[in-house]
Amino acid sequence: LEARMQQAQRLESLGQLAGGIAHDFNNLLAVIVNYAAFIIEDVAGSPAAADAEQIARAAQRGSDLTHQLLAFARREVIRPRPLDLNAVVTEVQKMLERSLGEHIKLTVRTTTPLPAVMADPGQLEQVLVNLAVNARDAMPTGGRLTIDTAEVQVDEEHSAARAGLKPGSYLRLRVSDTGTGMPKEVIDKAFEPFFTTKPSGQGTGLGLATVYGIITQAGGTVQIYSEPGMGTTFIILLPVTDMQAQETNGEDSADLMPGD
Ligand code: ADP
Repeated sequence: LEARMQQAQRLESLGQLAGGIAHDFNNLLAVIVNYAAFIIEDVAGSPAAADAEQIARAAQRGSDLTHQLLAFARREVIRPRPLDLNAVVTEVQKMLERSLGEHIKLTVRTTTPLPAVMADPGQLEQVLVNLAVNARDAMPTGGRLTIDTAEVQVDEEHSAARAGLKPGSYLRLRVSDTGTGMPKEVIDKAFEPFFTTKPSGQGTGLGLATVYGIITQAGGTVQIYSEPGMGTTFIILLPVTDMQAQETNGEDSADLMPGD
C-alpha cells in the first residue's frame, strides 16, 4: 500500500510539473507559429517560404503535443457520483466502434444489473477510450477487443493478491485485446508518465498514466495481464457503493478521442 501511495504521489507531481512546462511551451510555440506565418506571407513563393512552412509545421506539432500534456495534467471538474458502469460502457461503445475501424471486432458483455460505483462518468469514458486506443495500436492487422463487466467479491484471502484492496464488493471492468502483448519490462513501466514504446510523435506515454490516476483516485486498482504474442488484458476493480446509480445521459463524450 505504501508503495502504491508513493507511486500515486509521484504520478501526481509529475503531472503538475508536466502541466507547468506544457503551458509555458505552448505560449512559446504560439509565438513561433505566428512569426513563421509572417515570414511565409512576406516571402511568398521563394525557397525561404517553404523553409518557414517547415518551421510552422514542426511548431504546430509541438503545440498539439503540449495540448495532450495539459489535458493529462488538468484534473479539474471531477464530479464523482453513483454510476451504472454498464451505462458508461454502452455509451462509449458506438464511438469506440467507429474509431477502431472495420478490422477490429468489438465485443461488449455486460452483467446486469450491477450495483453502482462512485466515479466521474467522463473520467470512466476516458479510461475506456485510452485502453481502446492502445488496443487498436497493438492490433495493426486486426483482431478482437472484448470489454466486459461483472461484480466480484474480494475476501481476506484474495486481498493481498488484489494489491491490498479492502475485502468487499467490487465491480470488475475487463478490457482484453488479441494484440501484440507486452514483455515484462514494458508491463513494469507501462503506467509511468511518458513511458512509450511507440515511434516518436505517435505516443505520448500518458494514456495509461491517466488511466492509473483516474482509477486509483476512485479507490480502485488496475492490473495488466499480458505476454508477448498472447494479447493483453486490463483488469480494473472499483469499489461498490450503497447509493443508487444516477443517470449518465447528457454527458458529451465526442471530444475524448485523440485527434490524429
Ligand atoms: P502511449 O500509448 O502513448 O505509448 P500509454 O501510457 O498509453 O502511452 O502506453 C504505454 C505503453 O504501454 C505503450 O507504448 C505500449 O508499449 C504499452 N501498451 C499499452 N497498452 C497496450 C496494449 N493493449 N497492448 C500492447 N502494449 C500496450
